[in-house]
Amino acid sequence: MAKAKPSSSAAAAKPAATAAPATVHSALVTYSSMLALLSLCPPFVILLWYTMVHADGSVLKTYEHLREHGLVEGLKAIWPMPTAVAWKIIFGFGLFEAVLQLLLPGKRFEGPISPTGNVPVYKANGLQAYAVTLITYLGLWWFGIFNPAIVYDHLGEIFSALVFGSLVFCIFLYIKGHVAPSSSDSGSSGNLIIDFYWYEMNGRVADSMLVNTALMLIYITKFFWWESGYWCTMDIAHDRAGFYICWGCLVWVPSIYTSPGMYLVNHPVNLGPQLALSILLAGILCIYINYDCDRQRQEFRRTNGKCSVWGKAPSKIVASYQTTKGETKTSLLLTSGWWGLSRHFHYVPEILSAFFWTVPALFSHFLPYFYVIFLTILLFDRAKRDDDRCSSKYGKFWKMYCNKVPYRVIPGIY
Ligand code: NDP
Repeated sequence: MAKAKPSSSAAAAKPAATAAPATVHSALVTYSSMLALLSLCPPFVILLWYTMVHADGSVLKTYEHLREHGLVEGLKAIWPMPTAVAWKIIFGFGLFEAVLQLLLPGKRFEGPISPTGNVPVYKANGLQAYAVTLITYLGLWWFGIFNPAIVYDHLGEIFSALVFGSLVFCIFLYIKGHVAPSSSDSGSSGNLIIDFYWYEMNGRVADSMLVNTALMLIYITKFFWWESGYWCTMDIAHDRAGFYICWGCLVWVPSIYTSPGMYLVNHPVNLGPQLALSILLAGILCIYINYDCDRQRQEFRRTNGKCSVWGKAPSKIVASYQTTKGETKTSLLLTSGWWGLSRHFHYVPEILSAFFWTVPALFSHFLPYFYVIFLTILLFDRAKRDDDRCSSKYGKFWKMYCNKVPYRVIPGIY
């Protein structure tokens, strides 16, 4: 849970309108991509679920269905309505997590300072909540109270409920951002679409199956353990909690990131122990490297550069920048270790781990790989957006970093 606390002299925060988000792409690209995402993502989620679960992962089969019935009627025919079971699962899970968030202890964690000088404060109890959730889930299954298969059996209805529920939630955030903003970081851009998309700042927001399940568990553990800081890094700190973040986290991530698993339920393959183990180990290695990149950067910042990076004193750039209030501050940029290979090397193992998660689906269909392709585009775009943000924040110091570490993501290539 994030509460924005004003930093030292943030009492005189800038007027709300100055907190409006700046867009990185041109206005035409920004508006058309926002409109496209707002209107296309909900049907896409349902079509992806339908294709994975009811059409053997075959885009052609789904296309035939839509051609035969027409786009609107065909979509209506496959779009499941939210059911009472679906709402019970969503609200039961949501309520349980909210209670854990409030009751479980956790260290106080301060997120990065916002453009108007607020420091979001979090309770870092994500890993504990994850462990309790997992134990409760297994316990309920073990004692026959809850059958996990019910989630898969009602997946379409759950996604449908999430689609509608999240849209309502985003509208609520939009209105709240106007009438009761959480902090001085809220503010209207003057454009309804941009506001809806980005509104409230700092919101609160067989062996193939075995390989997949094991990787998923390790990945999710890493996510809760390490990336709880992710919620208060670039996305939440610099993008706002509107459709992009809220709808993305509530609907897009649970439906797209699990899609290879949806396919594997009905199409398990026998990879043989050697291949299965190799895929599992390759996936674990990628998750570890991704974790180690994040750890290296955070350790470097936490110790103010007084740590060892790959057995040596780190090489660094001392970068100064100005806050929106005109104060001069300094940050350290690590230029050795993983951060000396490329400026966003940690995205390479992130993408590869998604690949190893998907590869048990083998290659008869393209669609299980949609997740990897989507993640690749997302992270390459994110790397560019982060570079642009850092370039405007650090100016000549970021240029020095780019000269020293010329590649953005893949060393020697890009
Ligand atoms: P990063 O960990 O890449 O942090 C980016 C910030 O770090 C920059 O904005 C800058 O912030 C600072 N920084 C940049 N270069 C350096 C450097 N050389 N030395 C020190 N600090 C630097 O943020 P992400 O949120 O992108 O990634 C966090 C984790 O989340 C990663 O593991 C990533 O793979 C994962 N992720 C997963 C996604 C998914 O969908 N699966 C999507 C996005 C991320 P500052 O202003 O403080 O200088």
